Formats: sequence, structure tokens, C-alpha cells
Amino acid sequence: MTDIKKLEALFHEHKFTDFRWIDPKDIVVAQWVRMKCRFGCDEYGRNACCPPHTPSIEECERFFRDYRTAAIFHFAKSVDKPEDRHAWTRGINAALSKLEQAVFLAGRVKAFMLFMDSCTLCAKCVSSRAECKKPKLARPAPEAMGIDVFSTVLKAGYPIEVLNDYSQQMNRYAILLVE
Ligand code: SF4
Repeated sequence: MTDIKKLEALFHEHKFTDFRWIDPKDIVVAQWVRMKCRFGCDEYGRNACCPPHTPSIEECERFFRDYRTAAIFHFAKSVDKPEDRHAWTRGINAALSKLEQAVFLAGRVKAFMLFMDSCTLCAKCVSSRAECKKPKLARPAPEAMGIDVFSTVLKAGYPIEVLNDYSQQMNRYAILLVE
């Protein structure tokens, strides 16, 4: 079995079946994404894995250049109430954290997961990295690392669009940087 096939078997074992391999060079990083975090997101400064606690856009770009293999994971869901999103996100992010650990233990020392949404491993987050309750498991979302998720997933052939209300199906994405 090739190394890629072994990783895919691991993804399936962890119940992640909707994914695509990408070249990390195709990850689009943009300054405007950080501005959207800074002006317009109520998690700015309130989640220990969100800006301003994440690296600068330049550092993020350099970080992605360290990798040559990555996978995008797709999750589709519609919810009855906006607050229902959090429980769904928490479960997915906890499972993604376990997958990162399994990929690391399979010998991919650089394995690093970007969660599907802001880190929601705890019911209530904190406003600084130093206070993080699960520092070994906490990971940022792609957008917290300056990734233009729209452009990146469209390049990978996945669907994404601006939604008008919560009854519409969300298309959310996590990214695993492998090696
Ligand atoms: S692990 Fe908990 S405290 Fe740390 S960033 Fe995630 S939700 Fe916040």
C-alpha cells in the first residue's frame, strides 16, 4: 500500500470520507481575511486560537510553504437554530484533533490540523493563549491563519457560497497539513 493509501485508510478509519488532496501551494492566503477577523468577527480577541493570537499573514504564508502535501475535508450541514452549529462544530473539531494525532503517530511529524471552525473544544473559550484550557489540542481555523477559504476550496473543486440564513446548507472545511 502506498503512503497516501495508508493515510486515506486512516482518514476513513476516523470516519472522514469526504476529502481531497491538494498541493499546499494552492492554499490562497490574503490580508483581507485578517481584516475580516479584526473588523466584523465577534471572536476577535475572545478565542485563544483566533487573531490576534495567530501568526501574522507573512508568517502564515511561510508556514504553508513548509508543506508539500495537504488534504481538505468537507462537511455539509444545515441547522434549525444558529446556536446548534456550536455542538456540531465541537464534535467535528474533537474528531479532527484525534485524526491529527493519528497521522502524527503514523510518522508524519509535521501533521497540523486547521479546524473546521474556530476552536470550540471547550464550551467557553478564553481570551489568551496562556489561559487556553487544552493547549495541546487547540488549533486555529483556516481563516484564522489568513486562508481565503472561498478561493482555496473552489480551486479544489468544492462548493462554497455566501448564505442568507441558517436554514441553508453550510459547506465547511478543515485542512490537514501533512508533510
Ligand atoms: S482549547 Fe478551549 S480554551 Fe483553548 S482555544 Fe480551544 S476552546 Fe479556547
